[in-house]
Amino acid sequence: MTSDCTDTSINDTNSPDKIPLSALNQYAYCPRRCYLIHAEGEFKDNLHTESGTREHEHVDQLTHDIKKGVRVEFALPVWSDKLGISGRCDAVEFHPDGRVFPVEYKHGKRKQWDNDDIQVAAQALCLEEMLKTDIPNAAIYHIQTRRRRDVSIDQDLRNQVTATITAVINLLNGQHCPLPTEHIKRCPQCSLNELCNPELLNEKSRLQQLSAQLFNLETDEA
Ligand code: SF4
Repeated sequence: MTSDCTDTSINDTNSPDKIPLSALNQYAYCPRRCYLIHAEGEFKDNLHTESGTREHEHVDQLTHDIKKGVRVEFALPVWSDKLGISGRCDAVEFHPDGRVFPVEYKHGKRKQWDNDDIQVAAQALCLEEMLKTDIPNAAIYHIQTRRRRDVSIDQDLRNQVTATITAVINLLNGQHCPLPTEHIKRCPQCSLNELCNPELLNEKSRLQQLSAQLFNLETDEA
């Protein structure tokens, strides 16, 4: 199937009833981070996010380029009515043979977590719906190392995207900020670390567990 980037209109990208693509990335990184940013409006830059933002500047402007016959659209708004998601692609390549290839730009090296893959796969699903085409592959471009990594948009990753969308909807509707129990290894690099204070919260929750156990002990002995 062939596709034409001029098919896209940009009026639907910030629809308030759609889940932002970035929320899927945040959720896959840490549900608490997703909640703090998208339900409570907290966002703090740290060294990682600041330099990421600076490196991102050239892909944050709606513009295009043509390289070796490949048309590249930057900051292209995308959405899926079917999935209820919207956002922007850093770059989308439109190859002469009809292939469409979203490329997500990321600060730093490859991370050990798959949150970026979920985000770029969600972009691919949006583009498939908008352009009525098939997108079997996408890529992550690591700005610092200038390495490009292909991401196969296979069924497993597609399922992860839909599961993450459901999880984000439940999280944001649930009005309950998750505790930082599962994602503690990611905390040192998280820009919300200071505000979130995961160590203190975990201590508090441990204390609560201990006092609950103590209370049960006293009740049993009575
Ligand atoms: S500091 Fe840790 S628990 Fe808190 S939002 Fe960041 S990753 Fe999640």
